[in-house]
Amino acid sequence: MVIVWPIRCQLINAGRAARLAFDPAPIVLPVPVEGVKVEDLEDTWGGIRSGGRHHEGIDIFAPRGNHITAAARGFVTGRGWNRLGGRFIQVFGAGARSYYYAHLDAFDEPEVGDWVEVGDLLGYVGTSGNANGTPPHLHFGVYLIGSRAINPYPLLVPESQTPGAGEGLRPVDSSSGASSSSNSPADR
Ligand SMILES: [Zn+2]
Repeated sequence: MVIVWPIRCQLINAGRAARLAFDPAPIVLPVPVEGVKVEDLEDTWGGIRSGGRHHEGIDIFAPRGNHITAAARGFVTGRGWNRLGGRFIQVFGAGARSYYYAHLDAFDEPEVGDWVEVGDLLGYVGTSGNANGTPPHLHFGVYLIGSRAINPYPLLVPESQTPGAGEGLRPVDSSSGASSSSNSPADR
């Protein structure tokens, strides 16, 4: 029996998705923006934002149009627009983690349902959403099941990980619980 190609792809993808949830989450992630070094990163987690929100991610500044690449392998589960994040893409990866890339200037090829490997081009640095008027940057967020945000900084800067701190997680301040459970991941 011949399995037509799109269905065969879907079967392969379904198998990958099932395995992903049980694979351990990566302890270290590469910086997902072309031309940005680890030592250039600043920990911007938890900063106060408009409406009393807390910053649930890291802002990675780079010239407009620089490549945004996948920090972890997985499936594209979201690609579109929201008010805060502007043009965003979301990837579901090992350990049931979700990676959120926002303020894109433009998308590249990966679409919802596509599998991406580490380093695959997702899109381009910009200022879409509420980053309008700020220097171009990628807002990079990491979420666990239940939309709980964790700080990406210790994952990107392994020497900042403290022993005994699990995978370098720092729970978000309790006062930001409302925003972390919403469907609109934080911005800027
Ligand atoms: Zn941000």
